[in-house]
Amino acid sequence: MTRTKLRLAVVGAGPAGIYASDILLKAERNFDVSIDLFDHLPAPYGLVRYGVAPDHPRIKGIITALRDVLDRGDIRIFGNVRFGTDITLDDLKRHYNAVIFATGGVRDADLNIPGIDLDGSYGAADFVNWFDAHPDYPRTWPLEAKEIAVIGNGNVALDVSRMLAKHVEDLMVTEIPANVAEGLAASPVTDVHVFGRRGPTSVKFTPLELRELGELRDVDMIVYDEDFDYDDAARAAVAGNKQVFVIDKVLNQWRQREVGQASRRLHLHFFAKPVEVVGDEQGKVSAFRYERTRPDGQGGVVGTGEIRELPIQAIYRAVGYFGSPLPDVPFDAERGVIPNHEGQVLVHDPATGENRQMYGVYATGWIKRGPVGLIGHTKSDAMETISHLINDLGNWWTPESPTEDSVVAMLEERGIRWTDLDGWHRLDEHEIALGAAEDRARIKLVSREEMVDVSRGE
Ligand SMILES: Cc1cc2nc3c(=O)[nH]c(=O)nc-3n(C[C@H](O)[C@H](O)[C@H](O)COP(=O)(O)OP(=O)(O)OC[C@H]3O[C@@H](n4cnc5c(N)ncnc54)[C@H](O)[C@@H]3O)c2cc1C
Repeated sequence: MTRTKLRLAVVGAGPAGIYASDILLKAERNFDVSIDLFDHLPAPYGLVRYGVAPDHPRIKGIITALRDVLDRGDIRIFGNVRFGTDITLDDLKRHYNAVIFATGGVRDADLNIPGIDLDGSYGAADFVNWFDAHPDYPRTWPLEAKEIAVIGNGNVALDVSRMLAKHVEDLMVTEIPANVAEGLAASPVTDVHVFGRRGPTSVKFTPLELRELGELRDVDMIVYDEDFDYDDAARAAVAGNKQVFVIDKVLNQWRQREVGQASRRLHLHFFAKPVEVVGDEQGKVSAFRYERTRPDGQGGVVGTGEIRELPIQAIYRAVGYFGSPLPDVPFDAERGVIPNHEGQVLVHDPATGENRQMYGVYATGWIKRGPVGLIGHTKSDAMETISHLINDLGNWWTPESPTEDSVVAMLEERGIRWTDLDGWHRLDEHEIALGAAEDRARIKLVSREEMVDVSRGE
């Protein structure tokens, strides 16, 4: 008797898609597996390549572990193939028994305050995509502001603030391409102001990322004494949570520091609720208006009614990433995720008014649970999704053309210039060689055409 075979499509070659594939291949199961991993980018690794900041090589090092998985050769990669345009859900049903969507998030969550659409107001994700050389984003970035506000109290806000405040000379060891180096070198910035609506003990920064700010050359860290008048809830948080304890310690060290010598300053403002982005007559950002908040005694904050205004010429909102809807796949527009139960995708059934399982369709990573959590969390996430996929064996699709060749034939017929694992190696080596010429570990290619040409050896 022939053993059952699962032909699985995974859409998204970020950490979630790669971990899910790896976990399935290693899982105890009574069927064979063959996996095709699709990504619309010509390079794998998702936000590890296009989210993690270039001056965080330690985190980028996770790529080595992900690469080891791909280099085993038991997962086929199809880069430069976009689900929704190049391939559809019907195509997948024709060729596979099931699909896992691991499409993550690449755009900014909204911040609905007046003036947020003014010229000079940006989403953090767009800026990150620029400095991380995402091929689908503009090559130039308007760095014209001396004073900048960054809204948000998570690690992305810190990445953005650090990249704005840091001197470009200190980034030249990283993989940033020439257009990013030129843009940053022209920046006249003197002051970056980070705003959080809650207090120092409620931030979502991780201590390592916060501490790093204090080590930036020629950048003073400025914190304000008025933000450190803790209530009982804040004191309890410091006493009861190691992470909060360290954050509080780091911030308090900065309160004692001598400042005034550096040419750039990075200010951290707490208890500040965004109210409005103010514009000038030309419609350009000219100030940020916020309301001072205070602790509500339960660990939250309430407005005090005191409105403050700070002159700025640019503002970045770092209030979260957001998933994008995929054609023919259910989407929760409120949360920016694919609705699911532990990774089993749910679809609304108008007959019953209830959600029911959409057989054969799974989700994992940020598109499953929203844009929170570190790379490591996508692993536990993938375990949950994979265990359902295995147990759902009876409910998989029955494809018409389950052979591996039929997928290649379909892509060829459509004239899609897909890239594969060897192509990724060629691109990787090309970028490393570009870097070696300048004594750097790598310089990223920015143009999709060029990336695909190098990958395909054309
Ligand atoms: C700015 C920033 C900095 C971060 N820094 C750190 C850090 O220092 N340390 C840390 O641990 N974590 C960090 N993270 C978090 C980490 O990046 C995420 O936890 C992780 O990348 C989520 O993995 P994912 O695979 O779900 O999504 P992603 O990494 O977003 O991968 C999704 C993949 O799906 C592909 N895709 C999307 N749509 C389609 C489509 N229609 N067709 C085909 N392919 C598609 C994308 O191209 C992408 O490759 C950071 C995140 C951001 C945004």
